Amino acid sequence: MKEEFVSTVSHELRTPLTSIRGSIGLLTGGLAGEFSDKAKQLLGIAQNNTERLLLLINDILDLSKIEAGKMDFHFKEVDLQTLLDHAIDAIEGYAKEHNIEFVVENSVKGGMIQADEGRLMQVLNNLMSNAAKFAPTGDKVRVSAVRHHHQIRISVTDHGPGIPKELQPRIFDKFTQADSSDTRQVGGTGLGLNITKAIVEKHNGRIAFVTEIGVGTTFYFDIPEIKTHEVKTDKTSTAIDVNSQRVLICDDEADVAALIRLMLAQAGFEGDIALNAQEAEALLQKNHYSAMTLDIMLPDKDGVTLYKELRENPLTKQLPVVFVSVKADATKQEQGKEIQESAHWINKPIDEADLVEALKEAISENKINTHLHILHVEDDDDIRNLIGMLLDDHFIITESPTLKEAREYLNKEGSSPFDLVLLDIGLPDGSGLDLLKDISKIENPPEILVFSADDIQVGHIDNVTESLVKSKTTNEQLVDKIKSIIGKRVY
Ligand code: ADP
Repeated sequence: MKEEFVSTVSHELRTPLTSIRGSIGLLTGGLAGEFSDKAKQLLGIAQNNTERLLLLINDILDLSKIEAGKMDFHFKEVDLQTLLDHAIDAIEGYAKEHNIEFVVENSVKGGMIQADEGRLMQVLNNLMSNAAKFAPTGDKVRVSAVRHHHQIRISVTDHGPGIPKELQPRIFDKFTQADSSDTRQVGGTGLGLNITKAIVEKHNGRIAFVTEIGVGTTFYFDIPEIKTHEVKTDKTSTAIDVNSQRVLICDDEADVAALIRLMLAQAGFEGDIALNAQEAEALLQKNHYSAMTLDIMLPDKDGVTLYKELRENPLTKQLPVVFVSVKADATKQEQGKEIQESAHWINKPIDEADLVEALKEAISENKINTHLHILHVEDDDDIRNLIGMLLDDHFIITESPTLKEAREYLNKEGSSPFDLVLLDIGLPDGSGLDLLKDISKIENPPEILVFSADDIQVGHIDNVTESLVKSKTTNEQLVDKIKSIIGKRVY
């Protein structure tokens, strides 16, 4: 309620303040005739203080938005040089007022970043106006962009007094300012750097500073560089780590999808992008994914509908899904308990840490059974592959195309005991049922599920837990059966 209150009040204050400022501006501009020097002086004071109040209100409003996670970010690919040019243009008046000069050095010409241009301008403006405030008259304030560890580092360096030691650890906290006399001298709210840090972090970046009393200060932030298309394909093909998890990112906004991919890349995931449900379905058919992020509002299908369909399909039934949407919370509330709990839900604007955490959690929940070990005895290559695809996300599978090999696995000393043997009967070197004797000799024997073209009566056969007939069993029934048998073994 307090947050709501602060936000409402700040909002409501903006309108009257804007008209006060506007009116004073018209008066000083001579609209209502000439004023005496005294009146001009008073209007000047009113004008300065209205500006200060507006800055404060805007900062408070930003802060409350950030704290409530409601600050909107519209990311797109931004050319760094254009951004720096705009920032310099925007601050020109302020630079003149403080009698300083901004000098830009960009060694990353053509460099692109994924950014909300307006918000990043706010960051640059804050760092540059702080530098201008503190720089000595006539100082050249350097704004530079360089490549640093695959990121672009933007820094602003002044030759001002430096930041007092006692202030340094708190510099990014709210309302931190050198001291009150200083505040009156240079103006400001003490919120600028706090907001700046939050914005930089929303861009997947980090901000820091170096300062030396009496020498000057450099504030710098690092933001991931977007590779040009050619470079990107190059990089990904060499950088593929066979062990890294592959995630399908389904979002109709290409920029947001690219941003998610960047966020995931930082956490070590690989990502493929689908811009609609149809593309997602095609990719899911073709590739194996550890998890999927799913937007709710897709052009061709509602995300929840797609989710339900994925749950119906044995190949994707277990795929961990993280909904990522502006409507995540609201949509979650509309769903039944099962969908609420079986998926993860992340709101936009996306908090990188939350997203990565949700994905890791979803994947690890799905892998809960991976310590369970199945011996699959089957001579048909296609069936072995199919079952491998259906199960290998959930269980460790050892495949054996012959009776002989199966015996070796079962009798192998020191091998981890199997939890289940999935057994075909018609094998090239004998009947699968011959294996039952071997299994009964094992201490703590595995469960046995006969999966065969023959319709056998398991009731008559010792220690066979269940049987299924190939032609009569759907993939889903098979997976469910295995889970129900083996699930009892999860302690
Ligand atoms: P403000 O709105 O007061 O500028 P900031 O959060 O941007 O708020 O800055 C907080 C404080 O950090 C400033 O009041 C000042 O004391 C110190 N500071 C920021 N930038 C510089 C700088 N370039 N040189 C010296 N001190 C600085």
